[in-house]
Amino acid sequence: MIWNEAKECMSRDEIANLQSARLRKMVSRVYHNVEFYRKKMQELGIEPGDVKGIEDLSKLPFTTKEDLRENYPFGLFAIPESQVVRIHASSGTTGSPTVVGYSRKDINIWQECVARVLAMAGVEPKDKIQVSYGYGLFTGGLGLHYGAENLGATVVPMSSGNTKKQIRMMRDLGCSAIACTPSYLLHIAEVMEEEKVQNDIKLKCAILGGEPWTDQMRDDIERKLHIKSHDIYGLCEVMGPGVAADCSYHQGLHVYEDHFIPEIINPNTLEACSEGEVGELVFTTITKEALPLFRYRTKDLTHISYEKCACGRTLARIGRCMGRTDDMLVIRGVNVFPSQVEAALLEMGETSPHYLLIVDRKNNLDTLEVLVEVEDRFFSDEIRKLEDLTVKISKSLESALGLVVKVKLVEPKTIERSEGKSKHVIDKRNLV
Ligand SMILES: [Zn+2]
Repeated sequence: MIWNEAKECMSRDEIANLQSARLRKMVSRVYHNVEFYRKKMQELGIEPGDVKGIEDLSKLPFTTKEDLRENYPFGLFAIPESQVVRIHASSGTTGSPTVVGYSRKDINIWQECVARVLAMAGVEPKDKIQVSYGYGLFTGGLGLHYGAENLGATVVPMSSGNTKKQIRMMRDLGCSAIACTPSYLLHIAEVMEEEKVQNDIKLKCAILGGEPWTDQMRDDIERKLHIKSHDIYGLCEVMGPGVAADCSYHQGLHVYEDHFIPEIINPNTLEACSEGEVGELVFTTITKEALPLFRYRTKDLTHISYEKCACGRTLARIGRCMGRTDDMLVIRGVNVFPSQVEAALLEMGETSPHYLLIVDRKNNLDTLEVLVEVEDRFFSDEIRKLEDLTVKISKSLESALGLVVKVKLVEPKTIERSEGKSKHVIDKRNLV
């Protein structure tokens, strides 16, 4: 179902006109209210009047996560603190956390965007949705929560963790939808198999995001749980989940362009990429009041298409994120993304999507070892077959990555499962 046909199916000209009008207003508001941007614009020698429409977007300065950190906590806010109705923050694994704020209108727009995503995934008011993202400063839990309430569905606010209780509530309450990270849903599916409760579950769809995943992982989830799954994208700096999501055609994620203008740039030269070319995703918010951002560099790598989708929506589609500019490992000069390993493993079908990359440096040479979980049946088989499988996986990874890879097969469930973003890399080179 299309939640807001008037906004999701505009002609490209209508989208451009709406974006230009909103951008002009936003630039003027930001210039007069945020000292950080006013200074940046003055340094670049531009005034609000110089930005007449989206064709002038590239005149505006970029914003990075470091800019948010340096202006911690409220330095980039464009409204008085008294008008902020909600604060979220990203986990601060390095340096200060990033604090984001929302006005009443910002919260309403967020709820609208998430309701669009849920409707696109087939969630209806009669559905019960289990929100198994973490609640709290992280945007996942509350973002999905209020979006689902806005749509009129019944929300079961489970938050993350306590998998057995998740399954019990899902079964007892008859939840028909779930929102969480894809790796966590795979973990839930494994526990369901162990407890043999799959047949008691009424799940029909899942809204999954918060970490990069692959089509093969989607197939795995859909096959194990007999559900449809949809990819939801977002980041707390820009809003939270609901900036983009994929429809049932799964040909990229529709960006809510009436609120966010996407660009794809070459992360090294900062020049615009052409349609379809992979680069860093950048967003300019055009309706946010509390924390408007010019050209925020997400560090997510993807590509974009402006072609009309078979679902009827005209909104641009971004490809599923292929990794992050800072997730990118450089091993012996070769760019490697954990998602490439995952895709290669899933394509082979004999392994589970659980793997761990161990990067090390021996005698000044980088080494890559990949631990891969294989299905139980291989461990009951003879050694010879395990050896054959090791060679097969090595060959497949070597051709996918263009690197020599040492593969080690491990028994099922030996690689640690995480309930949030799964950790797939141990880079020992950083520990020295
Ligand atoms: Zn579509």
